[in-house]
Amino acid sequence: MKVLVLNCGSSSLKYQLIDMSNENALASGLCERIGIDGRLKHKGKEEYKAELEMKNHEDAIKIVIDALLDEKHGVISDVKEINAVGHRVVHGGEHFASSVIINEEVIKAIEECIELAPLHNPANLMGIRACESLMPNVPQVAVFDTAFHQTMPEKAYLYGIPYELYEKYKIRRYGFHGTSHKYVSQRAADVLGKDIKDLKIITCHLGNGGSVAAISGGKCQDTSMGFTPLEGLIMGTRCGDIDPAIVPFIMEKEGLDTKEVDTLMNKKSGVLGLSGVSSDFRDIEEAVEKGNKRAKIALDAFHYKVAKYIGEYACALNGVDAIVFTAGLGENGKESRQEICNYLTWLGIEIDEQNNSTRGKEIIISKDNSRIKVLVIPTNEELVIARDTKELLDK
Ligand code: AMP
Repeated sequence: MKVLVLNCGSSSLKYQLIDMSNENALASGLCERIGIDGRLKHKGKEEYKAELEMKNHEDAIKIVIDALLDEKHGVISDVKEINAVGHRVVHGGEHFASSVIINEEVIKAIEECIELAPLHNPANLMGIRACESLMPNVPQVAVFDTAFHQTMPEKAYLYGIPYELYEKYKIRRYGFHGTSHKYVSQRAADVLGKDIKDLKIITCHLGNGGSVAAISGGKCQDTSMGFTPLEGLIMGTRCGDIDPAIVPFIMEKEGLDTKEVDTLMNKKSGVLGLSGVSSDFRDIEEAVEKGNKRAKIALDAFHYKVAKYIGEYACALNGVDAIVFTAGLGENGKESRQEICNYLTWLGIEIDEQNNSTRGKEIIISKDNSRIKVLVIPTNEELVIARDTKELLDK
């Protein structure tokens, strides 16, 4: 079975074609500037880039299919070789605790969640509709970012606001990056040679967006992102946890409306806002090396925040067996991992410098005598989406 995995953003579309007989990615790529002009980066038999008009997501998917079929760069000779499409869908609300085969009812439920993810769900739906029209007989599956976190107990997902607001508007913690937290926690258990049912794991997905999850017996108990992906860690451009009273205060002082303050917190804050340098952790690290004080404060505040979440979740889980780092910075930022773990020596954690310097593979980076194991596990959300798609269609 070959599964086309699609991750549709408002003006972009990431894709992978995965051969499920060996789980190899046959091709991958990215369409950008959809609705503006259109750019394709494709990696199949060969890599190639092109500027091609993409008026909408349907155009982009047509271009992806052409690239997959292309004699020179392509990897399939007939579109019928695509047996299924797996979509990343950001928000499933309280409707979905696992992946589902897409039908009209599912589409309606995803539409109902647009309010909760106005930037993401419409784009995901555009991808689904485009595939329906281009490949009407190919089954499609939705894999939700929120699904893994649906096991959180009420005490973790309810906010301290009037309960009626939860009932009326479903204001609660949902959590995101669920596909990644699920994948890396399972891989960590495999690497440790343990059954995930017997483990308490804290997973740190540290990318441009970041979240931490507390997982017990393979089930999510708590996570740092909330009603939206704005809560929790200080991120690339997002502020994470702040005193909610700051919002009306800024609005009044700076004369901002709700949209403007939302943009300030989502796009102009985080390590970008603190440092004034960049949202990219590599640029921040470079600036720190050159002696930029605000970059140093931004990085310190970020490490401190991640460590505080780990401490909080060690308490929430009443203990912890393993801590996992993943995503762009989690997988590549050895200094950041070390800095975060420096706060955790009270847990008996010691980092092995040599293993911590290894890149691009699953590895235990804590010393053998470390009571709590620390691991780096490269995430692979596309593979989870493809696996869920296959599993549902095999049933
Ligand atoms: P992601 O959202 O998972 O793609 O992660 C993107 C983030 O990871 C960016 O802020 C990058 O700066 C960061 N990142 C990627 N590679 C490295 C690296 N070698 N060292 C530090 N940060 C990195």
